[in-house]
Amino acid sequence: MVVSLLAELLGNADYAKYPFLSESTSMAIGRMKGLNLGALDGAEVLGYNSEEVFSLIRVRLNGALGNGDSPDFADIPHEISLASFIFALIILRAANDQRLTSRFALAEARRSERYMNGFLAHSRRSQAVPIIEHTCGINLTDYYSEGFLVDILDYLKNSIMSQPSWKLVNRWVISGKVFVKDNEILHIFRESAARSINQIIQKMPEPVLKGELANILSEIMVYKPKVVTKPIEGGIPPCVQVQLDRMKKGENIPHAARFLIATFFINRGYDIQSVINLFSTAPDFSEKITKYQVEQIAGKKGSNSKYMVPSCSKLASEGLCFKTEECDSIKSPIYFTGKPKKERSSS
Ligand code: SF4
Repeated sequence: MVVSLLAELLGNADYAKYPFLSESTSMAIGRMKGLNLGALDGAEVLGYNSEEVFSLIRVRLNGALGNGDSPDFADIPHEISLASFIFALIILRAANDQRLTSRFALAEARRSERYMNGFLAHSRRSQAVPIIEHTCGINLTDYYSEGFLVDILDYLKNSIMSQPSWKLVNRWVISGKVFVKDNEILHIFRESAARSINQIIQKMPEPVLKGELANILSEIMVYKPKVVTKPIEGGIPPCVQVQLDRMKKGENIPHAARFLIATFFINRGYDIQSVINLFSTAPDFSEKITKYQVEQIAGKKGSNSKYMVPSCSKLASEGLCFKTEECDSIKSPIYFTGKPKKERSSS
């Protein structure tokens, strides 16, 4: 029911603003029916020369993969903007790299979040609600235009439990519904949109690209992160390893998990640049911002005091502990040795 209501509400401009919605992709694919992917060079795409479309695909991919920010394309006809999104997805599927896919997905989700922010701020809430509901799979009740009431189960499914402000005990609950502010709904929307884009790309059949599309594919390979890992004495505790693995797959891990990684490696003696490199596969990676944050954690900026690794009990309360036998009864991941106590004492 939500889908048909949504299709009725969306216009061409909305399709371009929220291109990951199934209504948007179906509309674009329907209109481009008959186009031969292998013979796009010199062809017409939705009435435009393919050269113009190739140029927009490049701007879109370079913005997302290079700067982590997809362009608004405010002055570009909506159909072409949408077509550039579809071709970018096809190129990323051909690239077959989860880190590139995740980085693109997050940048595009942020772009749609900007538009959604405008909808919420400019009294277009009735239009915003079905798009958010459809994207996030939740039901919303507008609460005096200050936020929304969300069913408790939907809230638990989407909340960031590692942040104290999202814990249910710190929430206003009214008749089985949780109050969520606009900016928090935008956060949930962004995460869900990024997930949808990731899934669309993953489910596509892997295409064989030719001509200019193949050229764009080889150009974006410069954005493929180079993972550099250094051996570390004493091993890596499970809580840190889980988050490193998630990042290597291009997943967007929460702030508390990033703090754990940075404090752990700084306190184990990694130099600043090596710690920065560990974050290079994060979908929202920015060398400048990461450098600033890592330097602060290492005590080279701001208060000049080095941050300690969070304790095991704090990490457990944030849902970030993945205890194994090797953890034994240590109180902080920094004491992890990779061996249980009995083995340590007998060796
Ligand atoms: S017990 Fe401590 S070191 Fe082990 S996984 Fe949990 S938080 Fe990490």
